[in-house]
Amino acid sequence: MEKCIFCDIASGKINAKTAYEDDDVLAFHDLNPQAPTHILVIPKKHIPSFSETKPQDAELLGKIQLAIVKIAKEQNLTDYRIVANNGRLAGQSVGHLHFHLLGGRRMMWPPG
Ligand code: 5GP
Ligand code: ZN
Repeated sequence: MEKCIFCDIASGKINAKTAYEDDDVLAFHDLNPQAPTHILVIPKKHIPSFSETKPQDAELLGKIQLAIVKIAKEQNLTDYRIVANNGRLAGQSVGHLHFHLLGGRRMMWPPG
């Protein structure tokens, strides 16, 4: 497999500020935060993107969603935004599935 920065974070090869971890899911603070709280939630397993999830990932995706709910509560967020950029033109810059958890400020709609 090609070098993947988020696989390296999941394996501990690259340091990140962890916000949550279980057997399947890792969450860490974004290096370049776009909101007072900006956490990336990833499967530890390498999945290249949202559109490349498979039926066998269904349980894992559910675990990620529940982890996000837990993390948001721990961060004292009631109002927040979840973003998954899928594909370069949508803003995806890292080829490992990740969900942005953004909160702590008013969110604009529509997004840019
Ligand atoms: P994307 O643009 O793919 O939706 O989101 C990738 C995110 O990963 C960006 O917000 C970027 O700031 C963050 N990021 C990239 N490299 C690293 C890193 O090495 N550590 C952390 N904590 N965040 C990173
Ligand atoms: Zn990866």
